Amino acid sequence: MMPIRCSQLPILAHCQGMLHGNYIAVNPQNEAANEGTIIHAEIAAALTEGRWTSDNKVASRILHALQQDIIGTPELLIERKMKTKIGDIELIGHPDLFYLTPTSFHLIDYKTGWKADDSDDDGISIKHSPQLMGYAAILMNEYLYHRANVFDITVFTRKSIYRETWTREIVQDWQNRFLDSIIYWDGIFRPGEHCTYCPRRFDCPALLQVQKSAIQAIADTDILANIMTAQPQQVIILKERATIVRKCADAVDDAIRKRLENEPDGLTDGEKRIYLAPVSRTTIDPQNGWWVLADELTPAELAGVVNIVKSKLENAIKDKSPRGNKAEEVNRVMRRLNDADAIRIEASTPRITIKKESSE
Ligand code: SF4
Repeated sequence: MMPIRCSQLPILAHCQGMLHGNYIAVNPQNEAANEGTIIHAEIAAALTEGRWTSDNKVASRILHALQQDIIGTPELLIERKMKTKIGDIELIGHPDLFYLTPTSFHLIDYKTGWKADDSDDDGISIKHSPQLMGYAAILMNEYLYHRANVFDITVFTRKSIYRETWTREIVQDWQNRFLDSIIYWDGIFRPGEHCTYCPRRFDCPALLQVQKSAIQAIADTDILANIMTAQPQQVIILKERATIVRKCADAVDDAIRKRLENEPDGLTDGEKRIYLAPVSRTTIDPQNGWWVLADELTPAELAGVVNIVKSKLENAIKDKSPRGNKAEEVNRVMRRLNDADAIRIEASTPRITIKKESSE
């Protein structure tokens, strides 16, 4: 029986090679720790204690929204371990929140790490989320004879809520395709962005090969010398390789940092020492310092040293606005700032971006 975690399904959707070699997909000791994040832990603690607020702002926002959905729900299962057997596979998952009604399975997930880049043309799509499909498949198999026939899926991101409804047929179809992809694996490893999260990334020959050739290509000085006249495809490939090399370098830095965290004096070869140097930054607490600054500086001087972050301002307005009026209040304040000629749009250095032409 091969154990697979639902959280690994997004990688498997790209590359089934992850399951092959001397690799064990689930380490039961590590699983709970891997799944824990501060926001998840805050929400779980609040729900267990019957609270609808938290010191963590994102958790608090999600709890407020959850309250409308789940208040009075008879039995909430919070991050409960669930598993099922599908063929020779044991699928294991910890849905963030689950409850069952006579007609529906309700699955709630917090994807606070999702960014706009994870969206497709319809906004953030949950219908392709293999992880959520995995949870639904576990429930479908474990509640085979239950009357509930649909899966109500709710995903909370940092700022939005996405909802979708799946039938048992949709989930069954996903499960069949998932099994086929593993049983009839074509033997091809498919390195890509997803490798960042693959537990095999340190011993995968396919990824190693891609990394080696990327490093070689980047080291080829001719490419850089001819960049102004290179074909568009060459430029795109060069950028993709540069990204791979940067990730390799980041992984090296992370590994060295971990080693140095256990070496208080650092390491020396007799000529040079490598160590973790303390870094500190002085900041001024706005709440305590504001009146001093307002006294010492003119408004124009003050404007030169204060930087107002739009997203933080919007969150502050939302936090103090009544539910249902939050977006309107943000718009109202932004209109006032616009009327006061306080809004500036500054172009910053353009980010090098690669996108599929069809997704424009
Ligand atoms: S590191 Fe990448 S290519 Fe290798 S098994 Fe994992 S996902 Fe596949």
